Amino acid sequence: MARPPARLMEVIRSDYVTPHMLRITLGGTGMNDFPPDQESAYVKLLFRQGGDARPLMRTYTIRHQRADEIDIDFVIHDHAGPASSWAQGAQPGDRIMVGGPGARKLINPEADWFLLAGDMTALPAISVNLEMLPESARGHAVLTVVDEADIQPLKHPAGVEIHWIVEPQPAEGESSIRAHISGLPWPDGQPSIWCASEFQEMQLLRQYFREERTVSNRHRYISSYWKRGVSEDQHKQAKRQDAERESD
Ligand SMILES: Cc1cc2nc3c(=O)[nH]c(=O)nc-3n(C[C@H](O)[C@H](O)[C@H](O)COP(=O)(O)OP(=O)(O)OC[C@H]3O[C@@H](n4cnc5c(N)ncnc54)[C@H](O)[C@@H]3O)c2cc1C
Repeated sequence: MARPPARLMEVIRSDYVTPHMLRITLGGTGMNDFPPDQESAYVKLLFRQGGDARPLMRTYTIRHQRADEIDIDFVIHDHAGPASSWAQGAQPGDRIMVGGPGARKLINPEADWFLLAGDMTALPAISVNLEMLPESARGHAVLTVVDEADIQPLKHPAGVEIHWIVEPQPAEGESSIRAHISGLPWPDGQPSIWCASEFQEMQLLRQYFREERTVSNRHRYISSYWKRGVSEDQHKQAKRQDAERESD
């Protein structure tokens, strides 16, 4: 099916949620035909390059949606990329082309308990997932933030315990999320898993859920949202190669 054309949207306001999380509210005529109920779906922000080059695309999550606005929460990181740099300079009235929204990847709700985990790039999607779980849900959400001041209040079922890990400089080849999860109790019954984080961490989490805990594909969503040292364009290639190796 042909992709719908990207929409022209306008910056309405920008507010820091926490020191490394900047919320940009988009609205304007692009909202006129924006489909409803898209919180946690992804959009593609398009950044023009010079000459005839195709625009650069960066992927972000819809954190909130209202009738005429969406909020996108940008992680402000140290390695300037087009998206995070654009967000920091965004002023009301600035315009941007927005592709999507693409499919929502919600946690499978048919389970006895839930485990959600991720870094700050996944915090918007995990926040929406937590808001959508039934009040009776139980389980854990394990979240890394780069600074204690980046811990934010989350709406969540009382039975889902939130674990914050403050990790200013994640160590390469290690996963603090995996280390934390392996210390949590593993209750009986059907678990439902949702994880998204850096590429290498995703691989470590995937290995853990394959080798140390058996969770069927139907109850397991594990994705990488970015890759250390490379831009989103190269991350996409790495993801493709990883998927090919996995299907061999
Ligand atoms: C489905 C999906 C949903 C996503 N939702 C969100 C979201 O809601 N909010 C959000 O902030 N991100 C989200 N991301 C991740 C975001 O797309 C990437 O972080 C993206 O690389 C940022 O683009 P950039 O232009 O800032 O940097 P790029 O040009 O892609 O990369 C430049 C450099 O910055 C580094 N880098 C990129 N991201 C980070 C980071 N988070 N921390 C440290 N270094 C980094 C790269 O490794 C590279 O060295 C999502 C990704 C996917 C696939």
